[in-house]
Amino acid sequence: MAYQCPRCGQNVSRASSTQAALAGGLVGSLLYGAFGSFECRQCGSISEEEFPPEVRRKMMFGSIGMMAVAVTLLAIVVVVLIALNSTP
Ligand SMILES: [Zn+2]
Repeated sequence: MAYQCPRCGQNVSRASSTQAALAGGLVGSLLYGAFGSFECRQCGSISEEEFPPEVRRKMMFGSIGMMAVAVTLLAIVVVVLIALNSTP
């Protein structure tokens, strides 16, 4: 999912964090991505308020989607752990 920088018009990407990825694995990096800021290669980090309203609405749905994926992954991990623990 690519968004345009409100300052220079280039594509921005969600800021990623290696620390969050290490701490929480895939789920951690997904959650970080869902709430993290955006980064433009030219202008640095861009706050959500700088984007036009329709773009922000799309971002919100994108964040909800990422949250849903993270929660689903967590649920799968929990189910697998329970299944592993219950085997004799
Ligand atoms: Zn920019």
